[in-house]
Amino acid sequence: DGITLERVEEYIWEIPQEGEMNTPARVLASEELLDQIADDKTLQQLKNSTQLPGVQQHAICMPDGHQGYGFPVGGVAGIDAEEGCISPGAVGFDINCGVRMMTTNLSYDDVQGHEEELVESLFANVPSGLGGGGVVESDVETVEEILDRGVEWALDEGHAVEDDLAHCEDEGRRPDADPAVVSQKAKDRGKNQIGSLGSGNHFLEVQRVTDVFREGVADSYGLSADQIVVLIHCGSRGLGHQVCTEYTREVEQAHPELLDQLPDKELAAAPAGSQLAEEYYGAMCAAINYAWVNRQLIMDRTRQVFERVFDRSWEEMEMNLLYDVAHNIAKKEDHEIDGEERELYVHRKGATRAFPAGHEEVPRAYRDVGQPVIIPGSMGAGSYVLRGGESSMETTFGSTAHGAGRTMSRTQAKDEFWGEDVQDELRGQKVYVKAQSGATVAEEAPGVYKDVDEVVRVSDELGIGDTVARTFPVCNIKG
Ligand code: 5GP
Ligand code: MN
Ligand code: MN
Repeated sequence: DGITLERVEEYIWEIPQEGEMNTPARVLASEELLDQIADDKTLQQLKNSTQLPGVQQHAICMPDGHQGYGFPVGGVAGIDAEEGCISPGAVGFDINCGVRMMTTNLSYDDVQGHEEELVESLFANVPSGLGGGGVVESDVETVEEILDRGVEWALDEGHAVEDDLAHCEDEGRRPDADPAVVSQKAKDRGKNQIGSLGSGNHFLEVQRVTDVFREGVADSYGLSADQIVVLIHCGSRGLGHQVCTEYTREVEQAHPELLDQLPDKELAAAPAGSQLAEEYYGAMCAAINYAWVNRQLIMDRTRQVFERVFDRSWEEMEMNLLYDVAHNIAKKEDHEIDGEERELYVHRKGATRAFPAGHEEVPRAYRDVGQPVIIPGSMGAGSYVLRGGESSMETTFGSTAHGAGRTMSRTQAKDEFWGEDVQDELRGQKVYVKAQSGATVAEEAPGVYKDVDEVVRVSDELGIGDTVARTFPVCNIKG
């Protein structure tokens, strides 16, 4: 309502700078995708975010963007790390929510006929649902070690191999983590949820590769047609949520002058250099480490389930981690702004890092082809593997989409869909779903999501993330 968009390029739209805006804002979308955010708050939230002090170039909405808490899901903002600010609302409540994909040498043929057994066994062995119960029960000291050391802890405990670390963003450890600024309450919430999916939108999906678009890159990633892969989507559970909740409140209270400048309280931010900015960053990085361990333990458990179902060792089945990447995160990164290197807090909320070939943060094994990007679709649609595109650094601070993006709220979804019907329909497509409740299935029905093919097409056309392969679900477990 009342927000004008100017077309810059085929898939780039701009909200021109005016009034209190520090920069223009940009939406990356086709007309079809734009239509789907015409009536919600996405554009207003994106526009609002340009009032954050120190925001550089433009605040950007990815093709899957939709409205969120204060800042859109699918939003990217690069904010000066010396003179700007950091905003917990522009990271999201589920700190380091993200995805990892594991490849196998199994083909769809090997799995057909075992789907029922596989989905039951995964559901029985991978903890999920709202409450507690993870792969490991622990105490506060263990949580602190996980917050500090990330997947290195899992390696020492026998839940990971070296190769898993090499194929994780930041090698599974954010060195800026500071467990001392994570509250006791957050740590307590984290104690018995290490290695658990959580509820709702989080899932573990066995998939088959249906299409390969870039053979050479797919080769480097170890992907081929008909292959079975596993996709794991979850985050930092109650611990990350607690960190976000507490720091949002603290930031509001400690920096009212900055809050008054902002059009939406949900964008509350701590000025760069303030004690609270440092503390939030340290706590957020600790929660990032927790989430990586969480996904690692779930993957470890998945390997064990496959060993039992297929009566072979996971090494024999070559169940290797392709990549793990966050999609709710803020990171200090150096980016070129007007020909100068600047340190930014790059906020990616429902957006995936997508560094191109040659970038030093891309794992050695993939450096020549670019960073793997994993974009889930829905339990009834394709999911994609992309590679960071050549234009991502100048267009999106090295980012692309993170999913298909929702088109309706959970409440609305429960009115539209009935869990059992959705499940039956999926079974007709040979997709085996097992969830904690019918409500979860309804809330996450394929119909609540946008067209992932269109999202990914736009990413590819823009050169920010190029399609490598497409998958389709075989088995899915949901919290
Ligand atoms: P979010 O992190 O925003 O909750 O979700 C990321 C994306 O995951 C969503 O935008 C949606 O496209 C995708 N997604 C949600 N549920 C499923 C599922 O069960 N299977 C797959 N493959 N993707 C899903
Ligand atoms: Mn999440
Ligand atoms: Mn997520």
